[in-house]
Amino acid sequence: MSFERTQEKLKILADAAKYDVSCSSSGSNRSNATKGLGDATGMGICHSYTEDGRCVSLLKILLTNYCIFDCAYCVTRKSNDIKRAAFQVQEVVDLTINFYRRNYIEGLFLSSGIFKSADYTMERLVAVAKKLRLEENFNGYIHLKSIPGASDELMKEAGLYADRLSVNIEIPTKEGLKLLAPEKKREDFIKPMIKVKNEIIL
Ligand code: SF4
Repeated sequence: MSFERTQEKLKILADAAKYDVSCSSSGSNRSNATKGLGDATGMGICHSYTEDGRCVSLLKILLTNYCIFDCAYCVTRKSNDIKRAAFQVQEVVDLTINFYRRNYIEGLFLSSGIFKSADYTMERLVAVAKKLRLEENFNGYIHLKSIPGASDELMKEAGLYADRLSVNIEIPTKEGLKLLAPEKKREDFIKPMIKVKNEIIL
């Protein structure tokens, strides 16, 4: 995979991730025109708060902005005419490690559109976290988004490697979902939260 292609993907998938709320910082468009020290347009780097109140910088990206769903409120919906891209698992691992070594980030925030199926996508998110932990010995912070409809087994496995797992509740009522995101079921948000809660209690 060429550097240019990875950079192009990073541009698309870091931009697409900005709609996922985890972030306490905002970016700037000021580029380093004079080739001086520093650059305020760092793609995909944002901040989050850890349980003990620390603010950590994260590589915040989507695995892909391809999606089989068509939620009316989402920029990634399949009917939207936008540039699409998808990272391979190893690309996200490499980017995380390389950014970490350069001291750009302290962790990873990884979400995704749904490609093929919820489980197929969640499997890949888990694979990123697993490779980081087991192959790269990465002890930095990892926040994974749960993919609505992913199996309990994958949610459990995600919990083994991630510091934080979160679930987006975009629409709180069944009626709203029917109107704006008819492919999603309310149980798809509630079930993973119950699973995470029960696993924490156990
Ligand atoms: S499933 Fe998620 S990424 Fe796909 S269109 Fe709906 S909100 Fe967007």
